[in-house]
Amino acid sequence: MAFEAKTYIIKQMKERVRLKECFSGVKVVDWDFDGVLINSAKPVLERQCEVWKEKYNLDAIKGWDWTYHMSLKYGLTQEEAIKLQNDTWMNSVVLSKSEPLFGAWALSYRFYRMGISQHITTSRLPSLKECTYDSVNRYYPWIPLENVHVRDGTNIDKDQFKVDWVRRMFANLHFEDNRIQARLIAENTSATVIYLPYPDDKGSLKDLVNIIEVPRVSGFPNLWKAYQIINESNYRNVAQY
Ligand SMILES: [Mg+2]
Repeated sequence: MAFEAKTYIIKQMKERVRLKECFSGVKVVDWDFDGVLINSAKPVLERQCEVWKEKYNLDAIKGWDWTYHMSLKYGLTQEEAIKLQNDTWMNSVVLSKSEPLFGAWALSYRFYRMGISQHITTSRLPSLKECTYDSVNRYYPWIPLENVHVRDGTNIDKDQFKVDWVRRMFANLHFEDNRIQARLIAENTSATVIYLPYPDDKGSLKDLVNIIEVPRVSGFPNLWKAYQIINESNYRNVAQY
């Protein structure tokens, strides 16, 4: 075996051992979907760029309402900007073009191999349930569809919906990119929240001990960076059932 190949395999094995140590004791993980497991911002941004007649890459996104403010900048009225947001973020044709974020995909697969139960809880509209199931089936087939939670009606508050599920399933970890929901879950459940802030939100939840901030690198940190940061944090002291 070539020396390089041997070194690569040893490195991979060491990484798996470290990862196993980092998440030992974790039984249930809950994932947010958009912006965490799946890169829905990409097809949404591409569609909005067509309207703006401008080009941006994903690193330009500063926050989850960034595209709304950009629409105003390109001369759309508030109503038009909201309509464009809705026509893209709530459009199953656009969302079905989303691909998985590699770091999250790799971490989720390792959780599966470690026997950790995984759930997905999303704020998506009830009308997007089928397209959400399709994406999970295609990219995360190891997560059973009964573990994918989408609201049954728009009368159900999307923030409370997430809090309730995280609490109900006794999740040890919840991965989230929405600042408001990350705070609510950290304040109202025993889970440790792995928060993936957009550049404008960095450091905004430092007051909560059960939030671990993992900076984004092109949409999501790589696997190594994510669990290295989690391992160095104090998450073992919280969310243990
Ligand atoms: Mg999200």
